[in-house]
Amino acid sequence: MRKVQPNDGVSPLTWTETFNCDICGKQKGSVDHWWLAWSEPYSPHPEAPERHMFKIYPWENMMAHDASAKHLCGQACLQKLVDRWLNIEMGTAHAAAQHSSK
Ligand SMILES: [Zn+2]
Repeated sequence: MRKVQPNDGVSPLTWTETFNCDICGKQKGSVDHWWLAWSEPYSPHPEAPERHMFKIYPWENMMAHDASAKHLCGQACLQKLVDRWLNIEMGTAHAAAQHSSK
């Protein structure tokens, strides 16, 4: 028995869905310059603890469907998201540093 979910298939011909900024809620138009941002686990070498790497990419419709991608309506909202992310990461880095200092 095959499990097919036709509703999940996104046809390239139907770009009628709308996106909203994850920071301010603004709705995306067709000509504005939006950004995508997401984080991925990353460790710089095998012994390093895995941390999150923050990634930013100019708007790309295919990628915008990724559940982990944040949608940002412009530089101001992108910078707000970066600020939030930095604060979270600084918090976890601080906790990790204290943990591994002994
Ligand atoms: Zn925004």
